[in-house]
Amino acid sequence: MSTKSRQTIYCGPIMGAKLRAEGARKRAAAAVRQADRAEAEAWSLQMEAYGGPAQPSPTIGQCLNGGLGWLEVECSRCKTRASLPLADIRRPRDTPIWKLEAALKCRSCRTRRYSPPVRMIKLTEQQELSPYVWVHPSEER
Ligand SMILES: [Zn+2]
Repeated sequence: MSTKSRQTIYCGPIMGAKLRAEGARKRAAAAVRQADRAEAEAWSLQMEAYGGPAQPSPTIGQCLNGGLGWLEVECSRCKTRASLPLADIRRPRDTPIWKLEAALKCRSCRTRRYSPPVRMIKLTEQQELSPYVWVHPSEER
């Protein structure tokens, strides 16, 4: 009985602190996720409604963390649209997504000398269009 109560007194505060720390960490992570989502959503709405400005933009990591993992783009020449999975883009996660625009090329329109510009349309939670017509920023040349 006396051992038990001593244990309770001894372990209680430590366990409690651990749990509280864990809870605080979870809340902090959720808050970051919420902030990332808000940032990605704001950027996406601005792009969709006004076509820009694309800068400043959230990073690849922020979009993924915020649950908006797909970037919809449009070829300015043939108007083909596609969804690109941000998770598969082999760029550092802290790369702002506006930097991807210059690296994106439409497979059916690009030639050796010239690729028409690609426009970023919006971010989405899920794939909405096929990604295969597009040359990935990571597989250039
Ligand atoms: Zn095209």
